[in-house]
Amino acid sequence: MNPKGILLVVSGPSGAGKGTLCQALLEKFDDLQCSVSMTTRKPRPGEIDGESYHFVDKEEFLQRIDNGEFLEWARVYDNYYGTTWEQVRNIIDKGKNIILEIDMQGAMQVKKVFDSGVFIFVIPPSRDVLEERIINRGTEDAGAAKKRLGNLNNELAYINNYNYLIINDSLDKAVKELESIYIAEKCRPHRSIKYWKG
Ligand code: ADP
Ligand code: 5GP
Repeated sequence: MNPKGILLVVSGPSGAGKGTLCQALLEKFDDLQCSVSMTTRKPRPGEIDGESYHFVDKEEFLQRIDNGEFLEWARVYDNYYGTTWEQVRNIIDKGKNIILEIDMQGAMQVKKVFDSGVFIFVIPPSRDVLEERIINRGTEDAGAAKKRLGNLNNELAYINNYNYLIINDSLDKAVKELESIYIAEKCRPHRSIKYWKG
């Protein structure tokens, strides 16, 4: 991987606002691209294959694990999710920085490979707000929503493995914080020195 490129990893409980924040960042910076994960989860209404995710069946996913095609993969809420090396390479080849929106198990695998990655954890302001956001989003049935909420304590235990924590209360403030982290990374000397005109 291009050692000068930035690899952002964003994790957090389901409903914390990861997707919303990443989307806002991607709209502001055209030098950044989000990796499209592969999953065995069924598409939600409106999700497009190849854009939201690459949707595959379990057999194909397991075969790809055996083939060593994943930078990281994990089983999350009864489905498999993973980032393929091909996805990561395509983004690097375009000379862009990468953002991965993945769960904590996957993030820890990425950390072993790219310890220079920037690991960002997103949480809502409270458990109650999280519940409200998952329910209001309306993408999960009651059983699936309960499963996601039930995993919260296990997920929060990962916070100290991350470089940054964003509490997504006011969306504007949270977007500003994510943006600031990204801008700060761009200002690291080995990256910003190329703009010095001599
Ligand atoms: P995740 O990707 O972490 O599962 P989403 O980005 O889908 O979470 O956000 C969950 C729901 O909460 C969505 O309906 C989104 O519009 C809403 N949401 C996200 N951030 C905020 C915020 N700061 N204030 C209010 N609602 C929010
Ligand atoms: P959802 O089903 O709500 O789209 O995603 C469920 C969880 O899977 C979220 O925590 C999300 O971050 C995680 N996830 C999405 N893609 C990947 C991936 O490629 N790898 C891993 N490890 N987790 C992922």
